[in-house]
Amino acid sequence: MPAHAPRGVGHLRGDEPFPIAARRALGDAQLRRNLTNATTTIRAKRAAVVAEVPDWEELRTAGQSIKAATLRNLDRYLVELETQVTARGGQVHWARDANEANAIVTSLVQGTGATEVVKVKSMVTDEIGLNDALAAAGIAAFETDLAELIVQLGHDRPSHILVPAIHRNRAEIRDIFLREMGDVDPGLTDEPAALAEAARLHLRRKFLAATVGISGVNFAVAQTGTLCVLESEGNGRMCLTLPRTLITVMGIEKVIPTWADLGVFLQLLPRSSTGERMNPYTSMWTGVTPGDGPQEFHLVLVDNGRTAALADPNGRAALHCIRCSACLNVCPVYERTGGHAYGSVYPGPIGAVLSPQLTGVEDNASLPYASSLCGACYDACPVKINIPELLVHLRAQHVTERRAAARLPSAEAITMAAASWVMRSPARFARAQRAARLGRLLSRNGRIRALPPPLAAWTRSRDAPAPPGQTFREWWQAEHQDPP
Ligand code: SF4
Repeated sequence: MPAHAPRGVGHLRGDEPFPIAARRALGDAQLRRNLTNATTTIRAKRAAVVAEVPDWEELRTAGQSIKAATLRNLDRYLVELETQVTARGGQVHWARDANEANAIVTSLVQGTGATEVVKVKSMVTDEIGLNDALAAAGIAAFETDLAELIVQLGHDRPSHILVPAIHRNRAEIRDIFLREMGDVDPGLTDEPAALAEAARLHLRRKFLAATVGISGVNFAVAQTGTLCVLESEGNGRMCLTLPRTLITVMGIEKVIPTWADLGVFLQLLPRSSTGERMNPYTSMWTGVTPGDGPQEFHLVLVDNGRTAALADPNGRAALHCIRCSACLNVCPVYERTGGHAYGSVYPGPIGAVLSPQLTGVEDNASLPYASSLCGACYDACPVKINIPELLVHLRAQHVTERRAAARLPSAEAITMAAASWVMRSPARFARAQRAARLGRLLSRNGRIRALPPPLAAWTRSRDAPAPPGQTFREWWQAEHQDPP
């Protein structure tokens, strides 16, 4: 890692390790029902529209190659993007971490005199904690994506990349609206159309009054300095066109070289995320156009740990992610725990590899273990990120770092060294097998419910089988009178 590369700060770490948060989430039956309903529906939609594309695998490979080639020359493409944006009337700002990015955006908003801003759903502004930073400066930020609005009004945290309120059902959303919206019809039902209409009326007033809009970016085309946002509700189009000032916050990995590259991702993303053939609202803008749309445009480029992640030749593939959320929807772990258990704004399989890379693995050490390594995420990923391989890579990195930092070997290291010593000698191995038979004293009905330390962790969440009464060697000797 370059000596100056900062680690990511902001909403990338949880207050507690994944196993503890996950255990609590597993006790919430309503959460599990909501998640199962939502992920099952999205999975089926995605599978159907992906099956329609005969060259889907070739598109995936193209997406993977474009991302890998771009990251290899990221410095060049970012400078090209800056040059093009500036030449078309925009201003580019560089932020090393979340704190710098928040300070830049806050001062830009203050410069306009506005005390309210409207926002398009954006992962990176969640990552840097922009709303809190603006609030501390007396500026109210209004989320305009329906799911983000539900999360904001519910004083909650997003739990899914694409559907931040996936953990809420219709009845819960109606209760939040009745409690928080103030001017909402007290007879509001939990019908989806009624809930959407209530949100539409609430947001319309904000759109028309706002003088500053804040957005994220899905893709930034270096060739022309064009920014691109994909959304499904039209709220993004309103935020991007109505205010006088537009501030766009972008993680530096979102740049792509050309419009031809954008064509690949515009095919991959909608089918992988919402299960749609084509995205409903795809907005693109290039700098400032006099008399049309925002007359002041700022692009804030955020590092926040990305350069550090880029320095790892194995781990950097996590930066290829286009935030489609397909890996979350197929993950058996995510489906049971939901997104909050991951602590970071990036949940699910991609969160388990991206967050530790942005913060440093020692700061998010439990996340690479939050997986069964089943491989469903790799199969679903439209840019072919080999998430299971990255998880194993990060686990190895964590073990190496822990070993280097420890003065004494861990219980696991001692156990493994002892097992290795025993298995190197047939005589020692046979004696160990005979000794293990004592474990039968702890068993009932062929199962052991609780093993003594250091093996107790295994039986905390599952039974161990009782050792057999006869080893294979003993059986062979009895059968053949001739040891193998
Ligand atoms: S890792 Fe792949 S599947 Fe998961 S969100 Fe990113 S692009 Fe989508």
